[in-house]
Amino acid sequence: MQQFAHWIDGKAREASTRRWLEVFDPATGKRFAQVAEGSAEDVEDAVAAAAHAFPAWSSLANSGRARWLERLADALEARLDDFAHAESRDGGKPFALARDVEIPRAVANLRFFAHAATQFASESHHGEAGLNYTLRQPLGVVATISPWNLPLYLFTWKIAPALAAGNTVVAKPSEVTPMTATMLVELAAQIGMPDGVLNVVHGLGPGVGEALVAHPRVKAVSFTGSTAVGRRIAGIAAPMLKKVSLELGGKNPTLVFADSDWRGQLDTIVRSAFQNSGQICLCGSRILVERAIYIEFRDALVERALALPVGDPMDPDARMGPLVSQAHFDKVVAGIARAREEGGRVLCGDNALERPGWFVAPTVIEGLGPDCATNREEIFGPVATLQPFDDDSQALALANACEYGLAASIWTRDLNRAHRLAAGIQAGIVWINCWLMRDLRTPFGGMGQSGLGREGGFEAMRFFTEPRNVGLSLA
Ligand code: NAD
Repeated sequence: MQQFAHWIDGKAREASTRRWLEVFDPATGKRFAQVAEGSAEDVEDAVAAAAHAFPAWSSLANSGRARWLERLADALEARLDDFAHAESRDGGKPFALARDVEIPRAVANLRFFAHAATQFASESHHGEAGLNYTLRQPLGVVATISPWNLPLYLFTWKIAPALAAGNTVVAKPSEVTPMTATMLVELAAQIGMPDGVLNVVHGLGPGVGEALVAHPRVKAVSFTGSTAVGRRIAGIAAPMLKKVSLELGGKNPTLVFADSDWRGQLDTIVRSAFQNSGQICLCGSRILVERAIYIEFRDALVERALALPVGDPMDPDARMGPLVSQAHFDKVVAGIARAREEGGRVLCGDNALERPGWFVAPTVIEGLGPDCATNREEIFGPVATLQPFDDDSQALALANACEYGLAASIWTRDLNRAHRLAAGIQAGIVWINCWLMRDLRTPFGGMGQSGLGREGGFEAMRFFTEPRNVGLSLA
């Protein structure tokens, strides 16, 4: 059976506990691998290795670090199919989604931040009194903690800016999907990246994640995951005044107006609700529809949802695979049962497919108001609710009737309205007549219970550096 060990100081290492966690194939529900169950002792070793590697790595020229990231991107691209296959097996996502979107995005993350490293310079200002410049220096050892839904995509989204800025990294991927992070650090070693620069410690959140956050030599923590865990991390980091970046959950509204080209855009709206089985923090899980088109839109949406091919991730026709784990399947199914208890009408979906694995069909629910738990809490599965609205102000009120504030999409031909709403919606990211349009230079992140801080572009480079202002009198 395949085993995924830690990667510390350029070498694979078993956990000090000698224990392994099981890794399952979501499409069959069968165990196919094991991952090291790390401990605080392993974290200690990894942090020591990263601290040892820091002086040499941070003293490389930015262009030198950029070259390493570019070489890693090239090596990953050359093995794109292998990585896509692994991602699909580990997380149950359709192979095509991994091959065409997620692994290419991981390559792009590495290339983008290689470039950012060479562009991100210290600023200087000439004033009347003197010359003033601001150094941007790396922090030292930083930790990244990432989730299972976009494993390599988010792993690289964090390690790339951290490394580009001159830090060394101890990364903790999700124990549910440990495969591609392990493969990537092996690749880094194969291309000769210096030992200790990029370390991986596998294991559970409380045992490894918390030890990393609490470690005094870890200068910053970049976390993506659930709001509950984000709060816990913030609580541990706060007394140490440690820098944290938190990318958390979402319950994103999709606002569909009668004047939009909703028929022409229905594929995208359906994708926004159900891509990766709804297991993307940006999925539009609350669909708000102008009453004049509500019935027509609802029926068309349900028809598309029923027609979405759900099946084996390796089947090229499957657009949706299983949910990632038994525990997550149970949570999503419980969320649908709660929606019924709250008085919701399940228009389609809910049924597990007649096959092994953790499948839930695309589910559309109507009849629930903004105050019920179904419309307030993240389900993180292929479950979307429908609510009608009468005018712009009601649409805005419904969109904001939730403590999350990650993303929103607005579908209308009236661009004045779109921009007005974009400024009023509580969300870090608003898309107008599109969904998941990403430019890696732009700030990414959420408001309210969706997070703290922003990633992307120079926001990430700023997070992973300490500014130091130096003033020089010219008198
Ligand atoms: P999770 O919070 O359970 O786990 C995320 C990571 O944190 C994992 O590596 C886990 O092992 C670790 N962890 C768990 N408990 C910990 C603790 N006490 N201390 C430190 N680390 C701990 O989240 P998940 O179930 O893996 O991922 C799904 C969640 O991630 C959803 O809520 C989703 O919205 C969110 N997400 C957010 C974004 C974003 O950019 N805002 C992107 C993707 C996913």
